[in-house]
Amino acid sequence: MAILGSTGSIGCNTLDVVSRCPEISVFALSAHTNVELLAKQCAQFKPRFAVVTNPAFHDRFKALLKEADSDTVLLDTKNSLEEIASHELVDTVMAAIVGAAGLPSGLAAANAGKRLLLANKESLIMSGQLFTSAARDHGAEIIPIDSEHNAIFQCLAEARDVDSGRTNTQFVKKIILTASGGPFLTATQDELASVTPDQACAHPKWSMGRKISVDSATLMNKGLELIEACFLFDLPSSAIEVLVHPQSIVHSMVYYQDGSVLAQMANPDMRVPIAYGLAFPKRMESGAEALDLTQQEPLQFQHPDLLRFPCLALGRAAMEAGGTGPAVLNAANEVAVEAFLQEKVQFLDIPRIIDGVLSKIPCEAASSLAIIREADKLARIAAKELI
Ligand code: NAD
Ligand code: MG
Repeated sequence: MAILGSTGSIGCNTLDVVSRCPEISVFALSAHTNVELLAKQCAQFKPRFAVVTNPAFHDRFKALLKEADSDTVLLDTKNSLEEIASHELVDTVMAAIVGAAGLPSGLAAANAGKRLLLANKESLIMSGQLFTSAARDHGAEIIPIDSEHNAIFQCLAEARDVDSGRTNTQFVKKIILTASGGPFLTATQDELASVTPDQACAHPKWSMGRKISVDSATLMNKGLELIEACFLFDLPSSAIEVLVHPQSIVHSMVYYQDGSVLAQMANPDMRVPIAYGLAFPKRMESGAEALDLTQQEPLQFQHPDLLRFPCLALGRAAMEAGGTGPAVLNAANEVAVEAFLQEKVQFLDIPRIIDGVLSKIPCEAASSLAIIREADKLARIAAKELI
């Protein structure tokens, strides 16, 4: 397999699961800047290739490989990520880069017909239909790693046609995406106004990279996930509801026509969906602690407060606008979150910036990658102007 973004939170969890399964061999790893960790991973997993996407770190990485007398080869061209994602010796690609930067390599894996373990939700949100048709046309199998979508994928097992891999949602009434509610679930509007990046990144249930942690705190993560679910399962946004479930034990649910509700439960640990994706259609050890329901606090579910967390409504609106709407939303969000992490704007400015960008950039049909890239670029410029 190839792991794109192996030094991140998902990347490290993936290697932890892989280390439990001697049949999986690691062909390539990638990192952007953390070459110290990448070199350690190369020493342990002995991949044939490694990619460092930020060229400023190439020399340091080469020195580290030499020091360790490693046989891993650094691939250092602009297309190296796409090369490993589509390499003929690779069966499975873990797409675990954060943000729009993950799009070209994820798409390369889809075009090469790989099993694609998709953590990088932003690529699917930007290019929804193009991405899923590329996978369909080239026989790639997308297994969602985002815990909610992985839960839905599991709950839709009987609705999936084994030969085509397509899901028949004819008997599905609705899908419930669960949301932990993030660190500010009970915060007042006044308290939200002055929260710091470190407070926003201190998620009560999940340990994740900083960008997705802020997305969870604003509930934009759920707005993005709603769009992700529409594209993955070919459902209209009206079929997807969000419920806040602070215990993060039920990862999502599928309501069927006959009144049956299937839910997937597990302790909040990303190694569960990662192991599912690696072993599918079998199962394997993930290292996650077993769920003990007798020791579990009561499970609660409540409707989200869209007034305090407007990002969720912005996500739904962008999906309903269609075309390049989700790509514009995603780009504006990436820029706004980065500005918040650098303390250039306040927490409550994030939805204001995204709303401003959405009303400024007209939606177009997302019929080519060039159109999507242009929408992404214009949205980033507009967001920076607002900041
Ligand atoms: P992270 O910040 O911990 O790691 C990001 C990885 O991407 C690192 O390996 C980094 O080297 C690489 N990277 C960063 N910028 C890059 C660039 N410009 N070009 C190439 N590589 C780059 O992020 P994460 O929390 O592991 O999240 C990764 C993806 O998985 C995101 O899309 C996120 O939404 C999704 N996801 C994460 C979790 C989680 O629990 N962490 C859960 C669900 C979905
Ligand atoms: Mg999720």
